[in-house]
Amino acid sequence: MSQSLKITCLECGAVNRAPSDKLGAGPKCGTCGARLMDGKVRELDPATLQKASKTDDVPLIVDYWAPWCGPCRMMAPEFQKAAQSMSGVARFAKINTEDFPKVSMKANIRGIPALILYQKGREVARQAGAMPAKSIEDFVRAKSQTIS
Ligand code: ZN
Repeated sequence: MSQSLKITCLECGAVNRAPSDKLGAGPKCGTCGARLMDGKVRELDPATLQKASKTDDVPLIVDYWAPWCGPCRMMAPEFQKAAQSMSGVARFAKINTEDFPKVSMKANIRGIPALILYQKGREVARQAGAMPAKSIEDFVRAKSQTIS
């Protein structure tokens, strides 16, 4: 059965509702028209991260990273690959912990890269260390609830 899911627009921060069986059909933000599930990795600011992580029913996976971190840079293309192949299922985003150190303190991040999976307004799981795309996908699939 189709459910109405809350999903925050990562461009403008507006909270949208989308039917769970339409997530693969490219739903758009009712406020700014941006695509809500397009398989792209978005750089978040703390306000958007806060809102989406506390609101969204759709799995949101956030890569806590920094430009000086070699393993983070190595993982970036893998993270993008996973985002693309899970388009319509989960959303992928990044937060630059060098620009926003308070965010990683608040999330209690001890080492980067660190992935945190949020769903239904709370943290569901986290995983530290660089991973290939396949392992990222497996992690998200294993820890998130099916939404359709
Ligand atoms: Zn929007």
